[in-house]
Amino acid sequence: MNNLPLLSFNKAGIYCEKGDFYIDPWKKVNRAVITHAHSDHAREGSKYYMAHKDTVPVLKQRLGPVVTESTEYGKKHSINGVKVSFHPAGHIIGSSQIRIEYKGEVWVVSGDYKLENDNVSQPFEPVKCDVFISETTFGLPIYKWKPQKEVFEEINAWWKKNAEEHKASVLYGYSLGKAQRIIQNIDFQIGPVYTHGAVENINQIFRDGGFPIKPTQSLVSVENKNDFNKSLVIAPPSAEGGKWLKRLGSYSTAMASGWMAVRGMRRRRPVDRGFV
Ligand SMILES: [Zn+2]
Repeated sequence: MNNLPLLSFNKAGIYCEKGDFYIDPWKKVNRAVITHAHSDHAREGSKYYMAHKDTVPVLKQRLGPVVTESTEYGKKHSINGVKVSFHPAGHIIGSSQIRIEYKGEVWVVSGDYKLENDNVSQPFEPVKCDVFISETTFGLPIYKWKPQKEVFEEINAWWKKNAEEHKASVLYGYSLGKAQRIIQNIDFQIGPVYTHGAVENINQIFRDGGFPIKPTQSLVSVENKNDFNKSLVIAPPSAEGGKWLKRLGSYSTAMASGWMAVRGMRRRRPVDRGFV
């Protein structure tokens, strides 16, 4: 091993001193290497951002006209003599583990990652390394995930039951990542699928980037209230309780989030159902 650790934590985040760059910094820095565009990983104010090519358009939508360099999986870059490459993390489209190599020593920072293939994100690829820095958001043993297929069967059954009762089904999920997983895996034969604006914007960015996100319709374009009867409406958690819900007539609500595994979180959310 070299004398200095290749990466260390300081006030601004995970820092590579040899290369003079940060990974997902939480403060403004000169050079930020970004694993993915969720707001707890991609923060505004840095001078220069490096990200995967599927992350860059979302990054710009969220942070404004920032200076970016885009890359592809596996491509090696040199930053002040440190080799940097991005590898699939399986969390959302474009999400990356960051591999860093200096004088034969290899470190990997996972970012958020998921081992199960979700049929939307580029599947996780293990990367050989000397040191692995792992994100542990859902690392506690209370988080045990059901296979994805079971979760979507539950969502379809809930939606179908509501449709039979002529109710709209409002499913909350993060607009970047969770929403696309829902859309790609639900049964479109049950009824029409409408999206809140924040979700539709992200869908369109990914479609423009060549990802075949299934056709969805923005809910503002729905003119006849009766069209909502059998529909599934996908909206971000931040839209919960908004005035727009009044347009739907009778409806049932649910939340799709890993946080629904925590009983306290379920109780705090005023939704009818939680899908984990
Ligand atoms: Zn994330």
